[in-house]
Amino acid sequence: PRGGAPPRIRRLEESVVNRIAAGEVIQRPSSAVKELVENSIDAGASTVSVTVKDGGLKLIQVSDDGHGIRCEDLPILCERHTTSKLSAYEDLQTIKSMGFRGEALASMTYVGHVTVTTITEGQLHGYRDGVMENDPKPCAAVKGTQVMVENLFYNMVARRKTLQNSNDDYPKIVDFISRFAVHHINVNLSCRKHGANRADVHSGTTSSRLDAIRNVYGASVVRDLMEIQVSDENAVDEIFKMDGFISNANYVAKKTTMILFINDRLVDCTSLKRATEFVYSAILPQASKPFIYMSINLPPEHVDVNIHPTKKEVSLLNQERIIEKIKDAIEEKLMNCNNTRIFQTQA
Ligand code: ADP
Ligand code: MG
Repeated sequence: PRGGAPPRIRRLEESVVNRIAAGEVIQRPSSAVKELVENSIDAGASTVSVTVKDGGLKLIQVSDDGHGIRCEDLPILCERHTTSKLSAYEDLQTIKSMGFRGEALASMTYVGHVTVTTITEGQLHGYRDGVMENDPKPCAAVKGTQVMVENLFYNMVARRKTLQNSNDDYPKIVDFISRFAVHHINVNLSCRKHGANRADVHSGTTSSRLDAIRNVYGASVVRDLMEIQVSDENAVDEIFKMDGFISNANYVAKKTTMILFINDRLVDCTSLKRATEFVYSAILPQASKPFIYMSINLPPEHVDVNIHPTKKEVSLLNQERIIEKIKDAIEEKLMNCNNTRIFQTQA
């Protein structure tokens, strides 16, 4: 009541804190898939297979052939803030792995049922841990790690309902895997619905980026792509480098596909996307949206990777200048191809 004594402040129980935090890290089934696939790639896997049931609400299973997890680490594997990737805060400046917070697996155990099966090199058998039991059992296993997440959000009624009512998350999951497949060309990534014998994405491994794009997005996309490279030549110590493929004037699509990796992290950058779309709409006569794959590399100390709970955004030093440079380069490429096209149709 107004004017009354203020309400008491109490400390939340740890289980409540954990579940609240987990809901932020694992926002939807596709975020769980992203975390698991990143773990597999961080573990040096060359094959990663994803299986999904009911848009990930019933089952998400990610199997890899990476380095596995030591048996003695299993008891703390799914505790919060346990990681093999970071030890000092300063390591964040140079970290190469996609994970670093040691939160993803823990979060999944607070909002779903997690089982890990893993084997490390030289072991005769693997271990399976239905992690809440904390009593890993020996079992047969093939090289690597398999993580199974069942009944995601079983204890978050509102979240589960929303996800059941909205379109299921499977297309988002396929989209994530496709993006990873374009960047990690030497990892064989696949994704299928549980029980289906055909995969919806199957990247294979290849040595060429264009082949990777072809395997995932199709030959018709690749036909209309141009290679693009930008580097900051005026800078004393090269501030950034960008390699990529962008669609030309013949490409037709209603929606922009923007696959952006910054220092090998899949991220979103709204301002770069807007700038790119702006260039396309200004130069190309028809209202087609572009297909863009870009890999930007910067000195690690210029990238803050820790600004978002799901790590889907990063913050860059000199962001405006970088975007400006990239915009100029796209503009130049498009002008050239647009001129050629007009020339060809007139000839
Ligand atoms: P992070 O990736 O930030 O370290 P996670 O909770 O995602 O945190 O994973 C915790 C730890 O578990 C990792 O640091 C890694 O050592 C181990 N791990 C998780 N998934 C795998 C995997 N697929 N293969 C090998 N090790 C893994
Ligand atoms: Mg991780």
